[in-house]
Amino acid sequence: MSIIVQKFGGTSVGTPERIKAVAEICTQTKKREKCNLVVVVSAMGDTTDDLVTLMNQVTDYPTPRELDVLLSTGEQISIALLSMAIQKAGYEACSLTGWQAGISTESVHSKARIKSIDTKLIKKLFAEGKIVVVAGFQGIAEGEITTLGRGGSDTSAVALAAALKADRCDIYTDVDGVHTTDPRIVDKTGRLKFIAYDEMLELASLGAQVLHPRSVEIAKNFEIPLRVRSSWKPEDNGTLVVNNPVSDDIISNNFTERKSKMIEGQRSVRGVALDRKQSRLSIIGVPDEPGIACKIFSELSHHGVSVDVIVQCVSQDGHTEVDFTVNRDQAEKAKQELDIIAKSIKAQRTAIDNSVVKVSVVGAGMIDQPGVAAKMFKALGDHKINIQMISTSEIRISCIVHESQGEEAVKCIHEAFGLSEVNS
Ligand code: ADP
Ligand code: ASP
Ligand code: MG
Repeated sequence: MSIIVQKFGGTSVGTPERIKAVAEICTQTKKREKCNLVVVVSAMGDTTDDLVTLMNQVTDYPTPRELDVLLSTGEQISIALLSMAIQKAGYEACSLTGWQAGISTESVHSKARIKSIDTKLIKKLFAEGKIVVVAGFQGIAEGEITTLGRGGSDTSAVALAAALKADRCDIYTDVDGVHTTDPRIVDKTGRLKFIAYDEMLELASLGAQVLHPRSVEIAKNFEIPLRVRSSWKPEDNGTLVVNNPVSDDIISNNFTERKSKMIEGQRSVRGVALDRKQSRLSIIGVPDEPGIACKIFSELSHHGVSVDVIVQCVSQDGHTEVDFTVNRDQAEKAKQELDIIAKSIKAQRTAIDNSVVKVSVVGAGMIDQPGVAAKMFKALGDHKINIQMISTSEIRISCIVHESQGEEAVKCIHEAFGLSEVNS
């Protein structure tokens, strides 16, 4: 019997009515496909944010352990209610918390990675004909409750699909697939019928919230066909994330569609992402000597700070300036470490700027198409948006700009590459 994993996000299960609608999607799938079905759910609506607000009313400095105990409760409400709704619809269902479902993680709070999944209980429930409803975003490590980082339910679903060797994993959300950029920023976005794992991984890591980056990484490693689709239009095929979309023929055997698929595959830019959680740190008056950059960045990495875009200025009077960005959650910690490093290497001073964002274009086709960077910079220049820093990889270009211009930057770049015209 085939195995299917379905995941429903917060908005999809936001009200009792929505939970009943999700139960209908699950039971219809079970009926139509006669499959073994695992359903992973997030907390209802803004429950996780509300739990953070509650926490803030009690303390500014929660211990990570208690914070995970608190935040994991949201998903537990959803699994119980969804199981009840499925049972009311006449099907057998059983809810499992992350730890009951056998999800073991690293022993880290608030952003644990899944290490292994013991699927024994899930398989037993399959044998009993039950739809298994699992709480996303949570696991267990050495008997302690852990969580996987915000948006982590996608990762729970894909990891379960990998462990169960599922036939596919469908991520149901509040948009009808992966778009050329966030539809909350640009009115007329294009929708992608398919996207390569690598492109999706870049977009997700660069701020496109639609999939948790780690979920894409796992889907790629285990070659899980991953589909992003709408909970409101479950019959729509949404976007398929696959290995090699151009040669892949999963989508259609129809010649016209194949041709348009190939043309789209050749587009240099497939999507634009905005990461609003960036901070820029500077270390100024750094002695320009061999080994200094190594000292700065190895000290930072030693203290668990992940650095992203790095720029070093041309040396003047034997001194230089090194600027880099970090995720805003790590900015204060990074600044404290940088102050210590500055003293030890006799740099003049350090600075922090929390008002920057990162705008990126992504596309596997840009490897052999010249002019992508120039087009992006022209769009920004024409809109008087100052680029503070630039970084590139084979399939992406990122610019750091002031946060007040982030959305405008996304809009003008999206337009410059004609992305509203993409696909359906
Ligand atoms: P869920 O609660 O279902 O996990 P999320 O809010 O985490 O949903 O992710 C869906 C949201 O991701 C959409 O509402 C949309 O605003 C945002 N998003 C950002 N970038 C994209 C993109 N490129 N394509 C589609 N949605 C995107
Ligand atoms: N409920 C968690 C969050 O809001 C996990 C998730 O929705 O994926 O981040
Ligand atoms: Mg999400």
